[in-house]
Amino acid sequence: MSKCAEVVIIGGGVIGCAAAYYLAKEGVSVIVLEKTDNIGNGASSRNGGGVRQSGRDPRELPLAMYGIRNLWPTLSEELGVNVEYHKEGNLRLGKTEHHMEILQGLTDRATACGLDVRMIDGKEVREINPYLSDEVIGASWCPTDGHANPLKTTLGFYKRARELGAKFYSGETVLEIKKIKGKARQVITDHDIYEGEHIILACGYESRAIAATVGIDIPMRKELIEALVTEAEPKMFAQMLGTADADFYGHQTEHGSFVFGGASGMEDVNKDNGMQATSSLTAPCICRGIMKYIPKLADAKIVRTWGGYEDICTDGVPVISKIDEVPGLIIACAFTGHGFGIAPTVGLLLSQLAMEKETVLDLSALRYDRFKAVI
Ligand SMILES: Cc1cc2nc3c(=O)[nH]c(=O)nc-3n(C[C@H](O)[C@H](O)[C@H](O)COP(=O)(O)OP(=O)(O)OC[C@H]3O[C@@H](n4cnc5c(N)ncnc54)[C@H](O)[C@@H]3O)c2cc1C
Repeated sequence: MSKCAEVVIIGGGVIGCAAAYYLAKEGVSVIVLEKTDNIGNGASSRNGGGVRQSGRDPRELPLAMYGIRNLWPTLSEELGVNVEYHKEGNLRLGKTEHHMEILQGLTDRATACGLDVRMIDGKEVREINPYLSDEVIGASWCPTDGHANPLKTTLGFYKRARELGAKFYSGETVLEIKKIKGKARQVITDHDIYEGEHIILACGYESRAIAATVGIDIPMRKELIEALVTEAEPKMFAQMLGTADADFYGHQTEHGSFVFGGASGMEDVNKDNGMQATSSLTAPCICRGIMKYIPKLADAKIVRTWGGYEDICTDGVPVISKIDEVPGLIIACAFTGHGFGIAPTVGLLLSQLAMEKETVLDLSALRYDRFKAVI
């Protein structure tokens, strides 16, 4: 078993798998280390599949726009897996004047960055999606947003990366990164030692503890988010939906199920020994909220619910960065609940950082040292 590669990636989520694919495609040798027995077991197989540019911070918006223009449209063909990508728009819904002010602010910031997104009234909302309730008084509308299947996307990157020679080791819990002669070089797991010229740390919230082993702190916290899927329903609409209140989001999948995520309003009450937890009440609470937006789904049957952790950065955007103090180390984490839509772009950028090439986008706003106090 070879334990050395040009690049060792920690974390077998969509970010690690995408980076592995773009590196392997360039002929770079790659090892991916995943703690659990399953690739994509973290947020990557649990998310809502939103591939959106609207509602993003201007610092990460270019990554979303790049992916939608250049990577998502051909991804299924490129990976040999139907990732179920649909570019049929995103409606971010508002029910109150306060919601409309929030949406206006998001829209103004996005149009200033060159995104095609605009405010529409309730009538136009229902022309685009006739299933939405009369409570919706308006929305922001971004016609180039969309959604994809997160399980298939993660699987696609994994499968193609393997076909191109990347090696994946599951059941390997990374404990520590070790410097040799001042440079990140070794990755110590509970079973073995792996070595690489470059190390990419991409294991969601758990990146924080691993980065700390080489003296780097990324200020983020983890947050439990819940999601659910319905039985297959007749085809109703193709857009991705979200709300100004961020109380629910979701879409109808290719085979007819609706995948929704949402807030139950019980997040501060459901605690187990101080940790966030779920209860039998959370899914019904989320459903009640959704039914107010889409009354037609009142009889839809929920077949499964699940939870997943988001890695919430203190300033709301990810860290995608080389680390000056630890040459050879690249960190990609703190995606703050919206890393899936930008995963192809992030994978490409990480491959370019690891190959010491110029990146297709400027990453200075997403550096790890932006949190340092300015004296
Ligand atoms: C319910 C939910 C809904 C979401 N909806 C959306 C959405 O609609 N659109 C969107 O863009 N984003 C969404 N997100 C966010 C998105 O899922 C994440 O940003 C994205 O999946 C991050 O990918 P990742 O590879 O960084 O992390 P993960 O998928 O969490 O992968 C990290 C991997 O690292 C592994 N790992 C952890 N510790 C170690 C260790 N010590 N050693 C080795 N491996 C380790 C984990 O097991 C895991 O497999 C949502 C997230 C959740 C939870």
